[in-house]
Amino acid sequence: MKQADLGIGSDYAFLTYQPYDGAPLAARVRIVSIDGQGKVTVRVMDPGPKLPKNAWGARPVKQNEQQQITTRKIVCPWDEWADRSAAIGAENERKIAERRTRYDDFERRLADRLVLDPERVLPTEYDEDYFSPDTDAEERTALSQQYIPARGLGPYATLEEIRPLLVDLPVPVLRDVLATDARRRPGRAGTVAATFLRAAELLEVSRIASMRHAGRTSQEIPRPERLLDDRDIAFVNAVRDQIAAAGGELLLPPVPVLPDWVDEDDRTTAPVFGWLRLAVADTSGRLLHSPGCRSVRSYPVQLADHVPWWLVMLEHPRQLCAICGGPAVRDLVAMAGFVAAVDVWHARGCDKIERWQQTALQRLLSATALARAEAQEPDITLAWRIVAALRENSPGERGWAAYTLVAANGWNRLEQEIEKLPQAQREEARVVARDRLNVLGAALPTSHHTPPLPETADVHMIRQRYQHLKDLLQDTAPQLDRLLFTLPGAR
Ligand SMILES: [Zn+2]
Repeated sequence: MKQADLGIGSDYAFLTYQPYDGAPLAARVRIVSIDGQGKVTVRVMDPGPKLPKNAWGARPVKQNEQQQITTRKIVCPWDEWADRSAAIGAENERKIAERRTRYDDFERRLADRLVLDPERVLPTEYDEDYFSPDTDAEERTALSQQYIPARGLGPYATLEEIRPLLVDLPVPVLRDVLATDARRRPGRAGTVAATFLRAAELLEVSRIASMRHAGRTSQEIPRPERLLDDRDIAFVNAVRDQIAAAGGELLLPPVPVLPDWVDEDDRTTAPVFGWLRLAVADTSGRLLHSPGCRSVRSYPVQLADHVPWWLVMLEHPRQLCAICGGPAVRDLVAMAGFVAAVDVWHARGCDKIERWQQTALQRLLSATALARAEAQEPDITLAWRIVAALRENSPGERGWAAYTLVAANGWNRLEQEIEKLPQAQREEARVVARDRLNVLGAALPTSHHTPPLPETADVHMIRQRYQHLKDLLQDTAPQLDRLLFTLPGAR
């Protein structure tokens, strides 16, 4: 209080203790004299409630004690004190309660980040603005530990094999992936357990496939055509559209336009996913296997050879192993992140795309780029050029006669077929064969350069050229005969 408002002989409240969580305490003092310069002398009429022990900032006083104090320490006239103290106490308690609620809320949210709940309704948002590297690392370790019981793994499962699975996606997404049923039972619609089945399974396949004794896995490594569908294509297009709407462009690795004799589904998928890397098992035979195939011994999926999917699309179905179905998805962790993004997008009605979802697609692209870097594979390969060059002006039906002409030799009966043809058709076949071989020759690098066959090249010369190029490119371009001559209806 101000000195001017104080009166000698009157009683006032002198603050002795101000706790942060309750009502303040005061002694009742009577003013003996007003001393000037903001000071008064008071006598303690009643020291007030006993102060708590070691109370910080407390000013204990004794009954009848007389002392000089500054007027600032006098709160109010004594008869106002009870109300005043109660009001301050109530305000303090309210603040404390508010803080506690906020804290509990924070604690609950923090704890909830690691609670696996299959019944959890798919959150409307996974993106997070707040990120701390320390807590992030702790949370991922905690999730890695939860992975073992969540997937029903035995005592031999180790954190070392699980940690690499949980590196990319945001923690709450991983939490919800782990909440899915380990025996692949879909959860109720709209829950996280119904949303993340594909992602959870891919992570588990990746764990098994990367284990030391890998090569043979109890679960098949998925083939891309079994894993991916229209939703995935739509998602990639939606991400690219969103980027384009913001004035940018997301480039996919180049894929050549595939010829018309390639399976129609494959031709639809190729422009969007043809770049995806497929792992090919190591085998001495001619069939293509996945590294998980039980009929071959192979390196683990990450160490096996790999090719872009479009190259496998060009293979004759006979070349694909009937047991495993052929090469399988290589970058399983990145793919798990990608399908998680797609499935959340789809479950939310193909609406907004969050940052983590676009990132998941870009991570898959960067896994592809890394795989290609390790294999020193350029953006455009020789196989790419050959496919692109031969797709133009393909001969269609006329290709059969041209093929028969070049492939005839002493060991097959094609020579007789040729001799049955009228002269005009034989001449047409010769021209088609020569032109197609020249197109192929022109697509080759200078190191393989062959001079174009002249207009007058005879059948013998054309056959020699055909055989030369066939031998040269036997490991480069699948189905070279079809690329050259279309061969509609070929089996
Ligand atoms: Zn196989």
